[in-house]
Amino acid sequence: MAVVNLNGELVAKEQASVNVYDHGLLYGDGVFEGIRFYNGKVFRHHDHIERLYESALHILLDIPWTRDRMLAEVEKTVKASGLSDGYIRLLITRGVGTLGLDPNRCSNPQIIIIVDTISLYPTKCYEEGLEIITSSVIRAHPNTISPRVKSLNYLNNILARIEANRAGCHEALMLNHIGEVAECTADNLFIVKHGIVRTPHVNAGILEGITRNAVIELAKAGGIEVQEIAITRHDVYTADEMFLTGTGAEVISVVNVDGRKIGTGVPGPITRVLRDRFMILARS
Ligand code: PMP
Repeated sequence: MAVVNLNGELVAKEQASVNVYDHGLLYGDGVFEGIRFYNGKVFRHHDHIERLYESALHILLDIPWTRDRMLAEVEKTVKASGLSDGYIRLLITRGVGTLGLDPNRCSNPQIIIIVDTISLYPTKCYEEGLEIITSSVIRAHPNTISPRVKSLNYLNNILARIEANRAGCHEALMLNHIGEVAECTADNLFIVKHGIVRTPHVNAGILEGITRNAVIELAKAGGIEVQEIAITRHDVYTADEMFLTGTGAEVISVVNVDGRKIGTGVPGPITRVLRDRFMILARS
C-alpha cells in the first residue's frame, strides 16, 4: 500500500497534501531523490541520501534532519508500506513562503517521503530494447542550475520527453551545451565499442546516477574496461551496443537512435550481462 511520510508523520496517500504557497510548487524550489527497494532493502541508500544533501547544499537549502534521521525515516516509511519491492520519492521543498521568489521568505522546508510501486517501461522494451531520438532540447548549461543537482525543476527534461513521446519513443538523448552526448531525460547513457564500455564524464552535463556508478563498478569487477569520456553522436551511431541506466529503468538496452540501428539492432551481449549482474546486485 502506498504510504507518505510528511515531516515525520505517516499518512495515507489520499490524506497527503501540500500548501499551495510552498515554493516547491510555486517555483520548483527544492530537491529530490528517486530510490528503489528490493526485498525490503533500500538500494544504495547512503549514496542517495548523500546526493540529496549535496543537491540541497548547492541550492542553499538546509535540510532540518540529520542524515541518520533521514535514513531512519525512509526505512520507517518503507516498512509501513508493507511492500517488499517498490519506489521511494523523497523530496525537500523550500517550504511555505510569500508570492515572490525570495527564498528568505520561506520558513520550514517540507520533507516528503512517498513509498509506492513503480513500473517504467513495458516488459517488451527490456526484451527488445528501446528506440530513442536525439532531442532538440539540450541539458542545462553548467552556468544555469547544474545537471548534477536533482532539483524539483525538471522542465528541460520534460520538454525533451514530450519530443520523444511525439516521435513515438519512450526516451530522448540529450546533448550538452557543446554538443556532446550527455544523458537521457531520466537515465544515464552507455555505449559499448570493441568490448570497451564508455559513458560521459560526470562533468559532461549529467546527473551522477547511482545506477550508473553501480554498473561501472560491476563492469570493472567483471574485467570489462570502462571509460568516462566525451561521447559524440558519431560514437553513438557507430556503437556496437548501447544501454541506459536509472533507478526506474534499471539497465535497459537501446537498439535504435534517430532511426539508425545500433549494432545488430538487438540487445547486445555486454548489455545483457550487465543487466543480469545489476539485478543480482539489487536483489542481494
Ligand atoms: N539522469 C537524470 C536526468 C535522472 O533524472 C536520473 C534519475 N532518474 C538519472 C540520470 C539516473 O540516476 P539514478 O541511477 O541515480 O536513478
